[in-house]
Amino acid sequence: MMACVISIGNELLRGKTVNTNAANIGMKLTLSGYEVTKGLTIRDDPAEIAWALKTGMESADMIVTTGGLGPTFDDMTIAAVSKALNLPLIDDPETAQRLRERYARLGLQATTERMKMASIPEGSTVLPNPVGAAPGIFLQIQGKTIVILPGVPDEASAIMDSILDRIRIEGTEYFSESRFMKGTMESTLAPIVNKVMKEMDSKVYIKSHPRHSETGNPAVELEILARSEGKEHAKDLVETAFNRIFEELSHRSKDIRT
Ligand code: ATP
Ligand code: MG
Repeated sequence: MMACVISIGNELLRGKTVNTNAANIGMKLTLSGYEVTKGLTIRDDPAEIAWALKTGMESADMIVTTGGLGPTFDDMTIAAVSKALNLPLIDDPETAQRLRERYARLGLQATTERMKMASIPEGSTVLPNPVGAAPGIFLQIQGKTIVILPGVPDEASAIMDSILDRIRIEGTEYFSESRFMKGTMESTLAPIVNKVMKEMDSKVYIKSHPRHSETGNPAVELEILARSEGKEHAKDLVETAFNRIFEELSHRSKDIRT
């Protein structure tokens, strides 16, 4: 199953905030069996949000958005998603009550802006926020699952954790391992990586990450990942691929420098 992560926020595009949510959510989705095939970063703008949602839904089964759920004028994700999907906004009484209690405890008024966080698209489920005010939203529509999370990284992460059991793809286990190789150039590895991936029928994905080496010698982090029905099988595939790469490398080092 494919997933798309949509990051909403002007500050992400301006460079004021580093998009850590995309990495965090991407990793959680991957470990839950999804293949994250798209990531979109967009402005706080209803038309952009509608575009990203449509684009995500065209190719992915699971769409996760972060940002724009708070009380400020630029928090417009829920309204934009409702409009894009043609779902009326309704008040969720439980969330409204929780917000009233939260603000009363803090000695604050339940203003219209704060109560906006109790509005949800019809047919969706509220995902309580254990860390902050704005709850997340879970929505299944047109055969797709849409998860809407707040922008604050701790809040997005905590709410995402609370649904991992629900969204996990049974029977898809993921395993990845990285090994550091000093004295090897990425360009030397390239043909070997191609050969081993082909040989293994693309059951593994091999990615080399060139790393800075203080001594001036080349260094590469070689990452191999595999997906399978069982964790042990995925692990075996990764191990086999590493062994094949080392075998090929040792053959080549006997040749003239490549
Ligand atoms: P809030 O209730 O705080 O308003 P929100 O859902 O409206 O939550 P935003 O206003 O979009 O979230 O962002 C809140 C904070 O989280 C900001 O400091 C923002 O820079 C940060 N943030 C937003 N998106 C991301 C992201 N993708 N990665 C890391 N930090 C983010
Ligand atoms: Mg906000």
